[in-house]
Amino acid sequence: MPIATVNPANGETLRTFDALDEQEIERRLAAAHRAFRHHRTTDFAQRARLMNRAADLLDEDQDEIARTMTVEMGKPVKAARAEAAKCAKAMRWYAANAERLLADEHPDDTDVEDSGASRARVHYRPLGVILAVMPWNFPLWQVMRFAAPALMAGNTGLLKHASNVPQTALYIEDLFSRAGYPEGCFQTLLIGSGAVEAVLRDPRVAAATLTGSEPAGRAVASVAGDEVKKTVLELGGSDPYVVLPSADIEKAAATAVTARVQNNGQSCIAAKRFIVHTDVYDAFAERFTAGMRALTVGDPLEESTDVGPLSSEQGRADLEELVGDALGQGATALCGGGRPEGLDRGWFHEPTVLTGITPGMRIHREETFGPVATLYRVADLDEALEVANDTPFGLSSNVWTRDQGEMDRCVRDLDAGGVFFNGMTASHPALPFGGVKRSGYGRELAGHGIREFCNATTVWYG
Ligand code: NAP
Repeated sequence: MPIATVNPANGETLRTFDALDEQEIERRLAAAHRAFRHHRTTDFAQRARLMNRAADLLDEDQDEIARTMTVEMGKPVKAARAEAAKCAKAMRWYAANAERLLADEHPDDTDVEDSGASRARVHYRPLGVILAVMPWNFPLWQVMRFAAPALMAGNTGLLKHASNVPQTALYIEDLFSRAGYPEGCFQTLLIGSGAVEAVLRDPRVAAATLTGSEPAGRAVASVAGDEVKKTVLELGGSDPYVVLPSADIEKAAATAVTARVQNNGQSCIAAKRFIVHTDVYDAFAERFTAGMRALTVGDPLEESTDVGPLSSEQGRADLEELVGDALGQGATALCGGGRPEGLDRGWFHEPTVLTGITPGMRIHREETFGPVATLYRVADLDEALEVANDTPFGLSSNVWTRDQGEMDRCVRDLDAGGVFFNGMTASHPALPFGGVKRSGYGRELAGHGIREFCNATTVWYG
């Protein structure tokens, strides 16, 4: 893939970039390693000052970076501004909480004595240079939710961003530099995916985190496994959205629309499969379809746009293949199903609701990365759970019910990294984020996230 900014709303190539050569990659690896030797010795107050300064700068830059993201990958500009604001909030949260999250842990006195020690503790130390391989869909947020905890823990970062968001990638390096981070603390590597292996194998790189597709995750984790280096993988999702009879149907349907089309439908935690109890199916389907039909599709730089283009021509072709396969095998489109009229220059797809999904259809098992929902009718909670879990993914899940017994059952039985009741899945700095099954492993955010790239050191005093 060329490293370039290509506007998905009209297909125009706005800027292209040369990939770094070997010498420049070597210079940056050396700088990252050097910076780590210093950064690891700084205290939390020093790190928090830098992180808060970066958050303030990001707030100042909000309009400009939001526009850049929109032009690079097509998200509605109002959502891009919200993404920038969310990043600043997470940066401040880690600045305020990292010391508490990484405080020494003290085992019980009786256990300390039993180990033969006079005292003992667990002390968290940074791991080193961490390589972050990141996707384009939340080009700022995916990076910040790694960078904020990693830098607060005393690590340094190397970012290999997706090839279609180079200007956002360079902005992030510049942001940390302007905030006062010493050279090498956080650097962007403009490289193609083929150059990732050599960087990851370099002995100066301690670990890697990847957010992206399953093939990319597998490739990076295989190399890291070969090098015995820690990885965190945040991969795809096909989250279920279960609606049961006691739900507030009006609210469930309105939220379902947002949950499906956020970020033009290209979110790993978007609700993708809508699994509805037969008693409320018709009422939900009618409201949900009306909501999807009412969305404004168009230029993502317009404030009134709800759904912009897909990020790439290939992304739209992949989605069209899934929809075509389903329709060809007997699925019905309650709305949408193709390209919107009058938007021929960009890579747009209509908000679409499909019913009549059968297990033989690709869309039943694969992730739909675009504004396409699949709707299932189920007889009871047992069947709802069966359909919800009938996927290779396990990122998050959403359930609408007022019945505590049903909630408890879902917490016990849904194969997912999160269960959100009466609302849509969203990430928050204080709540761990991650999946099971093919959605990956490890956690980001909260204490779980900051400890992923730490050395939990046992300190024992005789
Ligand atoms: P992608 O094609 O996997 O790309 C993600 C990153 O991996 C990019 O930087 C890409 O670089 C790089 N990459 C691709 N193949 C690689 C390889 N063989 N070796 C090393 N690096 C490689 O994914 P995407 O299309 O950008 O993003 C969509 C996917 O990400 C969806 O499946 C979505 O669900 C998932 N996602 C997951 C989460 C989560 O938190 N679980 C969040 C957001 C997105 P190039 O751009 O240069 O190819």
